[in-house]
Parts: sequence; structure tokens; C-alpha cells
Amino acid sequence: MTRSETLFEQAKKTIPGGVNSPVRAFNGVGGSPRFIEKADGAFIYDADGQAYIDYVGSWGPMILGHNHPKIREAVHQAVDNGLSFGAPTALEVEMAEKVIEMVPSMEQVRMVSSGTEATMSAIRLARGFTSRDKILKFEGCYHGHADCLLVKAGSGALTLGQPSSPGIPEDFAKHTLTAVYNDLDSVKTMFEQYPEEISCIILEPVAGNMNCIPPVAGFLEGLRALCDQYGALLIIDEVMTGFRVSKSGAQGYYGITPDLTTLGKVIGGGMPVGAFGGKKEVMQYIAPTGPVYQAGTLSGNPIAMTAGLAQMEALCEEGLYEALAAKTKTIAEGLKAAADKHGIPMAINYVGGMFGFFFTEEQNITRFEQVTRCNMDQFRAFYHGMLEQGVYLAPSAYEAGFLSMAHTDEDIEKTLLAADKVLAGMKA
Ligand code: PMP
Repeated sequence: MTRSETLFEQAKKTIPGGVNSPVRAFNGVGGSPRFIEKADGAFIYDADGQAYIDYVGSWGPMILGHNHPKIREAVHQAVDNGLSFGAPTALEVEMAEKVIEMVPSMEQVRMVSSGTEATMSAIRLARGFTSRDKILKFEGCYHGHADCLLVKAGSGALTLGQPSSPGIPEDFAKHTLTAVYNDLDSVKTMFEQYPEEISCIILEPVAGNMNCIPPVAGFLEGLRALCDQYGALLIIDEVMTGFRVSKSGAQGYYGITPDLTTLGKVIGGGMPVGAFGGKKEVMQYIAPTGPVYQAGTLSGNPIAMTAGLAQMEALCEEGLYEALAAKTKTIAEGLKAAADKHGIPMAINYVGGMFGFFFTEEQNITRFEQVTRCNMDQFRAFYHGMLEQGVYLAPSAYEAGFLSMAHTDEDIEKTLLAADKVLAGMKA
């Protein structure tokens, strides 16, 4: 047995499924997860000393690569001042100003400790502000595991084949309406049915929890117009896309202005952080200025703020997003070319630093149901083949892949050579 296998068996005795977050258990691909010991640049290293070129990047935040010296050094210094105060700090003010500078639709921002907390709080705020109970989300989009959002959700909830979880009372779930991503008519139908009951629409501006699906032309604009028409708020969940698709998130990339934005892991540079923010008029509605309650003992934690600020400073470097997008294009187009060469049907999507590949005959993947029709056996075979070649992809066909600035041309070339080898072996 490898050390990872031994650790997994040991972990299962004390941790449900051996993991602290379901997708890590490799349920989507089978086999034993790699236990990771350290990470540096584009690489992660497992407990058996094996190195992998990493396209997960801690599920998004590692835009600069792992263990970036600027972030590491800033954290080392911050630790000397103490770990948590439960009182306001100048760092939080600096962070708020930085977030607002980068994402102008956010006039005010509140820090939390995870993406789940960010979306859960934003929804409570939207409901309180509009005095309406219903929310509208899209099938296949994942926004964390708050009760109201775990309805027809993506990511691990899909991989487990359990989009709606037991433990969520139907009385809660009935307030969550679902529509079809990239299908404006399905949203119109919901508004026509409940014209005065929908408090908000929440969506991933580029869906990254049903593989990678960018919005079709006019979709985001159409949602904005419907929200305005019916008096609902538009919440753009940029937990994955924020500072990854562009410096100002997917909203900047597509030129769409939400009422509220949620951010997550990316603003912590790898530390547990989330945030939600938006129009001042709406944000003033939360405690202590307003009646909607929201709080957190560790919110705005000084170490997390320090790591996040160091990362955000570095992200403002000229030309960074063009370079990240170019790397993403090379990997996605390269995978497609390798699949074509070996006669294996594949489609790809990519935007900014996110990409997805689909084992399917269909070419234009814009809908969740198309993802569910993909060939999962081929995905699993490809996944394990790549792992053996030293390439670590997301262990589920429902997750997007992530590039970092630490991925060199050589790393990408090695990845594509590995893909060529694996796909050659998969020929029917
Ligand atoms: N929203 C989106 C778009 C996400 O991708 C995720 C998690 N990947 C979340 C919310 C929840 O974030 P967290 O896991 O930090 O609670």
C-alpha cells in the first residue's frame, strides 16, 4: 500500500469518508485520493513523494501558484502580531478598499470565512431587503451548502448523485426555484409565475461546478433586465470567478453590474475567507446599521486579510490576466488537439484562468444536461492515466480546471505530452 492509501484507510476511521469535503474522496473517479504534503509553484507533492503538475489550485485561489513567496513572507510577519483579535483592524479597512477598487459594483463589503457563508448571508440580505422569500438559482450551479442553496446543486452534490440533500426540510427548499442555465425563457417563466415573490437570482457568471460553462451572449444582460423589471436583486457569485476570469471578476469581463457579489477563497490567497458586498443602499441593511443579522467571530481574521491583500496586490501586475488567459487557451486547445489526433470525441470551454474538457460528440457545450450526457468512463480512464503521468486534475467531471501564473510553458507542454500518451492508450 502507498502512504496515501494507508492514510486514507486510517482517516476513514475518524473522519466520515476519510475527508473533510466530499469531492476530495475521489468518489467521482474511483480509487484512493492522494494525501498532499506540500505544494510549491505549479506543483503539489503527495505523501509518497510523488510530484504532480496541479490544475486544481486548491479549487481556485492559487492564481499565483502555490506557496508564493510574497504571500508566505507577509503571513510570516503577520503571525508575529497575534492570530485573532475579535476587534476591528486596519487590515480589514485596507482589504475592503482593495476589493472595492477592483470590483466597482461593490460599494461596501463584509468579510466572512467561507464561500458558503458569503452566499448564505447575501441571500438573507436580499430576502430582508426585498421582503420576499423566494430565490432563483440554476440547475448545476453550486453556491456552497446552505440549506436554501443545496437544491439541484453542482460540484460534489452532483458527483454523489444527490443534488438535494436529506436534512433540508421541504418547507425550506420550496422557496428555492430553479431554472436552466443559459436559458432566459426558463427564468422568464419563473418570474411570470411568481412576479412579486422572488427576492433574488443567484448565479455563477461562468459556471464552474458543472464542469466549465460560460454564459451565452445576452444571458447575463437578460437576467439583469428581468431583475430590474420584477424588483429582484441580482447576486453574482464570484467565489470561483472573482480575480480569476479578470481583475474585476467575471462581471468586469462581461460588463454586467450586479446588486450583490459574493467572493470566496481567492481573496484569502488560500486562507479561509469569503466576502459579500454590493450597493451601499442594500449593504446598509445588515447589522449593525440595518435589521438583517449577520456576524462571525473570525471574520476579517488578520492572517487571512494579510494573505489576501498580498495576493491581490500581486494580481494587479500589468499583463497578468492576458498571460493567464493565454496559458489557459494553450492547455484547453492542446487537450482538444490531442483528443482529435486520437479520434476521441472531446469538447472544450475556457475563459480567463478556467477551463473544462468534455468527453462528448457534441461541440457547443452551454447546458448542464449536455454535461450529464458526457462519457464518464472515458473521463475516469483519462483522469487516472493523467494522475499516473504526474498531472493532477480535478477528480470529477463536474469541476472546472484552473491555471496559475506559476505554470510554465514547459509544465503545459509536459501536460499535453502526458495527455497525448493517455489518449493514445484510450483509443477504442
Ligand atoms: N460558490 C461557488 C461558485 C463555489 O464554487 C463554491 C465552492 N467551490 C462556493 C460558493 C462555496 O464556497 P466554500 O466551499 O468556501 O464554502
